Amino acid sequence: MSVGRTVTFPSGAAVPALGQGTWHMGDDPSRRQREIAALRTGIDLGMTLIDTAEMYGDGAAEELVGEAIRGRHDDVFLVSKVLPWNADARGTSEACHASLRRLGVERIDLYLLHWRGGVPLPETVEALESLVREGSIGSWGVSNFDVDDLAALPGLPGPSAATGLQTDQVLYNLTRRGPEYDLFPRCRELGVPVMAYSPVEQGRLLGHTALRSVAAAHGATPAQVALAWVLRHDGVIAIPKASSSEHVEENHAALGLRLTDDDLHALDAAFPPPPGKQPLEIL
Ligand code: NDP
Repeated sequence: MSVGRTVTFPSGAAVPALGQGTWHMGDDPSRRQREIAALRTGIDLGMTLIDTAEMYGDGAAEELVGEAIRGRHDDVFLVSKVLPWNADARGTSEACHASLRRLGVERIDLYLLHWRGGVPLPETVEALESLVREGSIGSWGVSNFDVDDLAALPGLPGPSAATGLQTDQVLYNLTRRGPEYDLFPRCRELGVPVMAYSPVEQGRLLGHTALRSVAAAHGATPAQVALAWVLRHDGVIAIPKASSSEHVEENHAALGLRLTDDDLHALDAAFPPPPGKQPLEIL
């Protein structure tokens, strides 16, 4: 098993830079066993960070994750998310306990606010801190927060404390480079790793000529190049979703792919870096 590069949160918890997503897992009963097998393959390969959310299939993805990790909770770093309309004092606690039941665990390692909604952030943060104190979650973070949203979080700015903000999970891939301009630098200042979701743009990216050509030069696949490109930054975690063991194994092998300066220039020409501020995109 090769764990590959790890990323360390302010809490001190170290996780593999390449994890696994679960959106749409559990939607189709006929695919269930294959999806569970895929997640287990990933865990065997060291892709032990698993990202899920109460939103995914209205809890079906969390139930599927619970089945996939049965008997091996301790090997896994679980990330789940609370919906913004549940993120008040009482709703956050109820949502978290419902997620814990579906996952079949006593603790979620990292619990995120899925996106910013109408509940005042100090109320949500206090609810999350209270879940940390009772031991139901190990730590908390946010998702889909742009720079101005981060500024509205209580307790910032400054490198976040071990009990404070741990990550911002955002849309980032070759076709969504906006965060490089200001969000990544801000997260570096705050000392929080970024978690890149939809790192292969839900598959839409994989037929692109430039990507195919870099992949061919390495005897690699477009998905591996897209993942290696996201993982070229320190402090960035990628969470591709793959529902077959073959895709998981292929994605894992991206950890062994080193992109050259020429590759990066070719990819910059095809997918230019942001020239200025772009509002954070969301899927
Ligand atoms: P991804 O970019 O991970 O793409 C998933 C798609 O790519 C699937 O159709 C999958 O197919 C395909 N794929 C994966 N690996 C390969 C491969 N090696 N070759 C060919 N195709 C491949 O998109 P997601 O939107 O799923 O993002 C990843 C995860 O991020 C989510 O599952 C979720 O956990 C999280 N997320 C968080 C969001 C947020 O708001 N915080 C929003 C969106 C996602 P197959 O399934 O057949 O293997």
